[in-house]
Amino acid sequence: AQERYASIRDKPATSLCGTTVSLQMNAGLMADLPSLPSSGAEGVGLFRTELQFLTRARVPRRGELAQLYAKVMDAAGDKKVVFRTLDIGSDKVLPYMKPQDEPNPALGWRAIRVGLDKPGVMRMQLQALIRAANGRPLSVMFPFIAQFDEFTAARDHLMREMDREASLGHVLPCKLEVGAMLETPSLAFAPHQFFEMADFISIGGNDLKQFFFAADRENERVRRRYDTLNVSFLTFLEQIVHRCSEADTSLSFCGEDAGRPVEAVCFAAMGLRNLSMRPASIGPVKSLLRRVDLREARSVITEARGSGAQSVRGAVMDWLKRQN
Ligand code: PEP
Ligand code: MG
Repeated sequence: AQERYASIRDKPATSLCGTTVSLQMNAGLMADLPSLPSSGAEGVGLFRTELQFLTRARVPRRGELAQLYAKVMDAAGDKKVVFRTLDIGSDKVLPYMKPQDEPNPALGWRAIRVGLDKPGVMRMQLQALIRAANGRPLSVMFPFIAQFDEFTAARDHLMREMDREASLGHVLPCKLEVGAMLETPSLAFAPHQFFEMADFISIGGNDLKQFFFAADRENERVRRRYDTLNVSFLTFLEQIVHRCSEADTSLSFCGEDAGRPVEAVCFAAMGLRNLSMRPASIGPVKSLLRRVDLREARSVITEARGSGAQSVRGAVMDWLKRQN
């Protein structure tokens, strides 16, 4: 399938109206990295670090992690890799972690909540990332931030590790970017200062949608019940785009929906300029983005929103059928 899109692999995802969207890939294993050149992705917008923790019988050591992260950065070369710190709990249970008996794991002790309450592993991971960068730029993203103080606390941990690594004589990254994943609706309503402080924000659409519609992403009965192109959800996305642009904070979308061409066009029409997806989706998404006028897409969406429709999908599909 990648061959089908080979002719546009090195071309930008620029729409007919001249808007360019940066397409990145999601990864989680060293084995994913060869897809970076072959897919035409501009970087790794989400590197899920939990896989190295889930596939071992014990907590990986700092040295092992530093080596792996360095290899990932080597393989990416000049392209940026956004490392997401450990996102466990809920559906991702570590074999060596005492199982938590929680009535609602998706709403429970997971991701950054574990990282802040028991910071040992997260700190070790941050040290490994700083050492792996070894003077190169480093981009770190904290998962599942629900309120401002969780971001400041996580960021403080990172800054303390930077000081500590420097005092141990390690070379610090030449540039450090610290971002938050927006995966709970609450964060979209955080104080302006949060948006100012974050170097970037990435919408974790899989979780955000689950909490927005109160529909379990793991439950077959309900997980496809609500359309991502639902007017309520798009209105919410528009607000997030607005808050980030007010603070001049870069925004991306890294959930599965970013890799669906129709959804990607709608996100771009709503103002999103960075989408991160599985490598195989880069070609199809780019191909469609290059064939449409996003201003037109925006008016189709605006009109559909005004019509009382539940979702803009029907109107957008009709409009797409009229394109060549
Ligand atoms: C998300 O929630 O959209 C996301 C990218 O993270 P994960 O799927 O790993 O929870
Ligand atoms: Mg998530």
